Amino acid sequence: MTHADILERLRASGYRLTGPRRTLVETLLQAEAPLSADDVYLRVRPAGMNLSTVYRNLAAFVEMGWLTVVRGVNGKQHYRVRSTNEPSFSIVCLDCGKLNQVAAAPDAVLRDTVRGLGFKTESLQVTLAAHCEHICEKRNGPAQ
Ligand SMILES: [Zn+2]
Repeated sequence: MTHADILERLRASGYRLTGPRRTLVETLLQAEAPLSADDVYLRVRPAGMNLSTVYRNLAAFVEMGWLTVVRGVNGKQHYRVRSTNEPSFSIVCLDCGKLNQVAAAPDAVLRDTVRGLGFKTESLQVTLAAHCEHICEKRNGPAQ
């Protein structure tokens, strides 16, 4: 889903693109990994948006269908922009909770398997639970 598609969808839903809301949308579009509401808040706070407004907007965007929820450790919700065609693969670290997006993934194999069970894949979201092999934030001081 492109930036223009999302802005069009917001307008169609009667959302006014105020400065802070535009910053929020940009933040979500530019995120390199799924963000928690707290992560989002830290990035949009300078634009003048408070935490409850962040939560309200994220919920509205999920409702509109262009933002999707990815669950991290302990079921903590993270948000990422939904991509219409490309499958979504995430890796979550069980120690520090860090979420990573994976670009290359064996989605053809999964789609074939699912088709073999009698389902037509609409969208694919997979989260792999793992332990960081690199220096994990949790084992080297508090994750912020
Ligand atoms: Zn880790």
